[in-house]
Amino acid sequence: MLWSLIKIVLFVAIVAALTLGAGYLMDSTGGVMVTVAGTEYTFGPLQSVLAAIVLVVVLYVVFKLASLLVAILRFINGDDTALSRYFDRNRERKGYEALADGLTALSAGEGRLAMAKAQKAERYLHRPELTDLITAQAAEMQGDRRKAEETYKRLLKHDKTRFVGIRGIMHQRLAEGDTDTALQLAERAFALKPKHEEVQDVLLRLQAGHHDWKGARNTLNAKLRHGALPRDVHRRRDAVLALSEAKDVLDTGKSMEAREAAIAANKSSPDLIPAAAMAARALIADGEKKKAARILRKAWEARPHPDLAAAFAEIEPDETPAVRLRRFGQLTSINPSHRETRLLDAELHLAAEDFPGARRAMGDLAEKEPDARVLSIMAAIERGEGAPDKVVRGWLARALTAPRGPAWVCDNCNTIHADWVPICSNCEAFDSLSWKTPPQSEGSAPVGAEMLPLLVGGPEEEEKAPEPVDVSPPAATPEMAGTPSETPTAEEDPAPAPEAPPAPVRPVPTGPNEEILKTIATPSSERQKSG
Ligand SMILES: [Zn+2]
Repeated sequence: MLWSLIKIVLFVAIVAALTLGAGYLMDSTGGVMVTVAGTEYTFGPLQSVLAAIVLVVVLYVVFKLASLLVAILRFINGDDTALSRYFDRNRERKGYEALADGLTALSAGEGRLAMAKAQKAERYLHRPELTDLITAQAAEMQGDRRKAEETYKRLLKHDKTRFVGIRGIMHQRLAEGDTDTALQLAERAFALKPKHEEVQDVLLRLQAGHHDWKGARNTLNAKLRHGALPRDVHRRRDAVLALSEAKDVLDTGKSMEAREAAIAANKSSPDLIPAAAMAARALIADGEKKKAARILRKAWEARPHPDLAAAFAEIEPDETPAVRLRRFGQLTSINPSHRETRLLDAELHLAAEDFPGARRAMGDLAEKEPDARVLSIMAAIERGEGAPDKVVRGWLARALTAPRGPAWVCDNCNTIHADWVPICSNCEAFDSLSWKTPPQSEGSAPVGAEMLPLLVGGPEEEEKAPEPVDVSPPAATPEMAGTPSETPTAEEDPAPAPEAPPAPVRPVPTGPNEEILKTIATPSSERQKSG
């Protein structure tokens, strides 16, 4: 604002001064008298000023010619580049103009024009490392992969542009899916520029994909060193890598090393559920039951999860349901209002055939968060308490259409995984799985809804029911594997149920729909037998 005001004032002042000067010259008498070879020339005041301007222009041209003359003389004397240097000044100007045009075209998304301008700039400047940068990007923009690769390869030759070349070819290989070559290129790029965040990420992903856990941990440490990673994220990711390493080591049969790696992973990230479960199992194998329980309790405090409960059950595999219910008190007293804790508590009460206890443990879950597992447990409670068949079937029918409940879901692409894995099987994102409720799949609900009247209706029609259920595979509920003693005892003596149905106690079977349909079908067939 102030600056533009000053400019205006300055402009007015200069115009005023020029007018004044011209007026003064017009008014003044006399002038300049020049004598050349005896002849006198007399100039008026205005004429002399114009003459001075002409003289300046003439001098400029003379100097230009003189420098050209000097260049020619030097060239004649043997300085080969003198003449080209003289003309180069012009070429350089044109070259940089073309370069600027090329950059502008690149920014405007005009790939073809940018390539042409880069070519022109190259003719004038002979600076391939400069013009190739534009050419490569323009070729990528145009989708001309071959040209882009050629250019990247030329860029490899110069120290300054080598990194750009490697990175460019690396991205091309990644797009082609050639991860082996991409990994090698990423390693070279990382060696050149260890601070480059994108290269760090690509390298980490590729190393993890190739199960090079040690290399991945080194890259992760480099990320931390160069400040590209918060310390807590580093700890978590390092734990994930350590756990992945432990899993691989376990596969090769070296259980001792795996044990140590799992325990280390659990130490650096106690809330990493699979690490806690693995470390606990390792300790159970060593007979260190107390330590195992401590690790699981700590993880349960951070995040209750069925895997932890399953590992906790493995501490005492042969106990009776009643003893197990008591022992699990150590776990269920932590985070008691958490949904997972309540479900676990209800399942333990079911196994111990304390049905009112199970109902108490469930609280308002059936109203507030009804999913397949919650509703199946409710059905089991009803059956245990001797409710009519119709009521039980009502719960089971609802379970069929209810959401699946939480599973290992990729935050990135929502793919559901049966087990925890460090890298998403679909989008290859690293450490992207979290235990949460997956978004409802479109297909499952309508199918189930159509079947509802069939299921709740007459027993004759039930034969048709089991076939059309086609839902995405549910997450495994490992408690089942971990608590084998629950089911048989319940099966042997399902006292309060009048019709002696087999095992509705099993809370969430691995294939819920089939199992549920079986439990629904059984009483009716029995009824047919009796009637
Ligand atoms: Zn994913």
